[in-house]
Amino acid sequence: MSGALYVVATPIGNLEDMTYRAVRILGEVALIAAEDTRHSRKLLTHYGINTRLISYHDHNEKGRAEQLLIRLKNGENIALISDAGTPCIADPGYELVQRCHLEGIAVVAVPGSSAVIAGLSIAGLPTEGFRFLGFLPAKVQARRTMLEGCSAETATQVMYEAPHRLLATLSDIVDICGSECRVAIARELTKRHEELFAGTVQEALARFSDRDGIKGELVILLAPAPRQTPEMTITEQLLHLRRTTDLNWKEIVKQVARDHRVAGSEVYRESLPLREG
Ligand code: SAM
Repeated sequence: MSGALYVVATPIGNLEDMTYRAVRILGEVALIAAEDTRHSRKLLTHYGINTRLISYHDHNEKGRAEQLLIRLKNGENIALISDAGTPCIADPGYELVQRCHLEGIAVVAVPGSSAVIAGLSIAGLPTEGFRFLGFLPAKVQARRTMLEGCSAETATQVMYEAPHRLLATLSDIVDICGSECRVAIARELTKRHEELFAGTVQEALARFSDRDGIKGELVILLAPAPRQTPEMTITEQLLHLRRTTDLNWKEIVKQVARDHRVAGSEVYRESLPLREG
């Protein structure tokens, strides 16, 4: 019988945010694969857990996954943890989890903290749906391109950003989404200097720019683009653009879908009878 891989969430700052189940499982498994073993040893010591640790990080993921799979196939239960929060969420783990699926090894979630969910839960932004972008790219152009893709999104978007890039990113959001775009910034969640900002991106810039350096970890949440009621129906706009522009049907469908915030396929269907005329 194969063992199971337990994917265990650990705190994102406050050591008390460990579940009873996480503590029990980390104590029971044969081995814990951890992103940084020295970092995780402190958490384990705090909870009196003596289980052996082995490193599993971005730079040894592939090779280590092979070794862990052999042990799992031999019946050992293994836990996977990262430095903070939930493994695989902007953290290592994907390779091992995917290999376990391929090999028919059980993968069990032991849920707990994650900065994306903690940020969303207090941001005061719509949460029926949301889009998680992970870390924003460090390079300016790549970041701006990603933010451009966010500007018409109809769900709240959540991104991880390094504190020293916060001001530059907020300036990009002003340029791309407008100064009145609503954002939330959740900094140092669950820690002593926890801070939540909620307001327009312009106000966020004002709040954070007069600081002597921004420290700690943070999550940026971007409100959905406001819905504007288009003046024309989809059919009217399709005909209008066809008559008044040089755009081809593909480009017209794309623009109408964007303006009406509906799926391109829906607009495409509506455009078919018009094309024949
Ligand atoms: N696996 C983690 C999770 O489930 O949230 C995320 C790990 S990722 C390497 C680290 C990033 O998560 C940080 O740079 C920051 O954007 C965000 N983060 C982690 N802890 C945080 C906290 N206490 N407050 C705000 N953001 C945090």
